[in-house]
Amino acid sequence: MRFLFFLRIEVNIVAEPNKQQIGDGGDNIGQAAHKTAEAAKQISKAAAEKAAVAGAEATSTAAGASVAAAAQGGQAAASVAAGTAAGGPVGAVLAAAWAMRHTLFKILVCICLVLVFFITAIVSLPSIVFNNIFHTDPDSIDYASGDIYEIMEELSGVVSGCVTNGYDAALAKVEKAIEDGGYDYELSMEALINHGYASATYDICYILAAYSASMEQRGTRKSNMEAKLNSVADKMFPVTYVEKEMERVIPLTYTTYSAGPVTVVTGKTQTGTINGVPQYRYTTGTHTYYTPSGEATTTVPVTRTAYQSVSVEVPVYAGSTVTGSRIETYYTASGTETLTPDTEMIKYIEATIGEFDQSVILKAFNIDPNAVYNQFNITYAEAIQNMANALKRTLYGTTVSGNIPSVTDEELLKILNSLNCSGARKALIQAAFSLVGKVPYFWGGKSAAGWNDEWNTPKLVSAAGSSSSGTIRPYGLDCSGFSDWVYKTALGETIGAGTTGQWANSTAISYGELKPGDLGFNDPAGSPNHVLMYVGKDYSGNDLWVHCSSGSGVVVNSPGYIKYYRRTNNIDLESNTVSGGSYGEALYTIQVDVTHYCACTKCCGSGATGTTASGKQVAVGMVAMSNHYPFGTQIMINGTMYTVEDRGGSGIENDTSRVDIYVPDHQQALRMGRYKTTATIYRLGR
Ligand SMILES: [Zn+2]
Repeated sequence: MRFLFFLRIEVNIVAEPNKQQIGDGGDNIGQAAHKTAEAAKQISKAAAEKAAVAGAEATSTAAGASVAAAAQGGQAAASVAAGTAAGGPVGAVLAAAWAMRHTLFKILVCICLVLVFFITAIVSLPSIVFNNIFHTDPDSIDYASGDIYEIMEELSGVVSGCVTNGYDAALAKVEKAIEDGGYDYELSMEALINHGYASATYDICYILAAYSASMEQRGTRKSNMEAKLNSVADKMFPVTYVEKEMERVIPLTYTTYSAGPVTVVTGKTQTGTINGVPQYRYTTGTHTYYTPSGEATTTVPVTRTAYQSVSVEVPVYAGSTVTGSRIETYYTASGTETLTPDTEMIKYIEATIGEFDQSVILKAFNIDPNAVYNQFNITYAEAIQNMANALKRTLYGTTVSGNIPSVTDEELLKILNSLNCSGARKALIQAAFSLVGKVPYFWGGKSAAGWNDEWNTPKLVSAAGSSSSGTIRPYGLDCSGFSDWVYKTALGETIGAGTTGQWANSTAISYGELKPGDLGFNDPAGSPNHVLMYVGKDYSGNDLWVHCSSGSGVVVNSPGYIKYYRRTNNIDLESNTVSGGSYGEALYTIQVDVTHYCACTKCCGSGATGTTASGKQVAVGMVAMSNHYPFGTQIMINGTMYTVEDRGGSGIENDTSRVDIYVPDHQQALRMGRYKTTATIYRLGR
């Protein structure tokens, strides 16, 4: 029955794909879809009642029964919801939508279609997230609000916490192996092959789907899921190691010499005796001898002039008269000698932290992937994959990212001309739209003004607090990173870090006061939050917002969850003259090899004091680099500005590409590991 509604929508879109008809409000796809959903809910309820009568689990949800019914009809509904049914009606709609993705207007069409999927998926899926994990009645959830994202964020946090525990367990195994074997810590950590932090393979939707399947989609608690995941934490990232040995040169320190004139006694003649003591007259001359001038250190053999010590008789004066002599030691040069540093054998381990092992998820939830999932008559593996895909559709509108079309210059011009606002506000919209469809979402992603060549290249998610922390993702911006980038690029103004900072740097305005460039939030400051930038209204009168969404990257759409409207403080938004923003002056970029350290004895040796080489109390934001970079040098790494305040051991001192970033605790230093990236030097020295 449900598919009939889909077909109807499909016909509307495919038969009349021109924008007047799609956008004129008469066809209101969103409303149609809403009605579809309402109808589908009713059908689902009826199906559930039937299922209950048939002796199915009384706790089966309406939607779950609906899915089962559809599956018995020959096709897994979850798969259809995910748009994966080859040639099916949904696939056709999808193809039609992408074929039309040219104008901004049509982006909205795509978004409406996503809404259709959204509702489809919800009908199939509440049993995955909402009902069974949270005991939430799907009828009580306002899908247009941000609830679904908040719930997902919370669940992602639980899973992410468990995976972090797994990763910590792997790091602890490496450290224990080093300690137990008495291996060299620094060499072992340098040799660590860490696929763990480069592993982007753990999949929140898959894990939630697997959990839900393991419970046969019956109610349970997230603490139960958490406990089960934690029970396999130490198996999430497999650790292996091999013992290695290397000959290490012990640096040889030797004395250097410099030549200089020395007054020496060249003869003495007895001139008489006073009180029985012989008296002499001395003659002196000047000879050249060598004296120690300092020390040098080498790790390779050095052939140089050989020096021998000699005893030299030098005069002793009383005033200007020589009254005696004494013996001093000087050096003479003759021949050559070769200084060869000693070597020692060092034992260390080359440990490997493997990629996240997804099979532990099945172990955690005690799932046999080949067993038949009775509700759908497919295997557990298939059911989990279908549900995971459907959940992604629900949350992101797609199972993959990168489907947002970008805005052409022509479209941008039209949009800007249609905006009735100041030059400053137009500059904001112009900057914001320049990234639509081009920059992915990246947790903790910040960037200086202007295009960043690192966007879309793989980078480690180094900010904590996300399910993606510690994984490699295409580099981009997070939501507040995007809004700040827009202000920096358009107006040369920063509006603060994070949604909390931007909330603090702005003042509440009413909905009626909204103008292009103003900000919207889904929550008050502090809670998990999302910040968006207001664009204006589309032809149908819907509010458009441009933002960097965790599902799709920079996008323009009309989310229904924005509850708070704010205007940035102390920025002249009504100015028509825009000076053009810039953000400091980048001097040059360098490739860097980034490591992390804390102030502990493992990281800094037994003499660790917590004071940097520049004499400051070590703090977040400081890095150690070779003395090629004077203290005070400012270096931007992945959007964060650091100051060089520290030096390192020979590994850092001899390598100008090494940057050691200070972090407050050892576990964090371990987690962040080592990676290469491009950094920008903004200033050399203070
Ligand atoms: Zn440490």
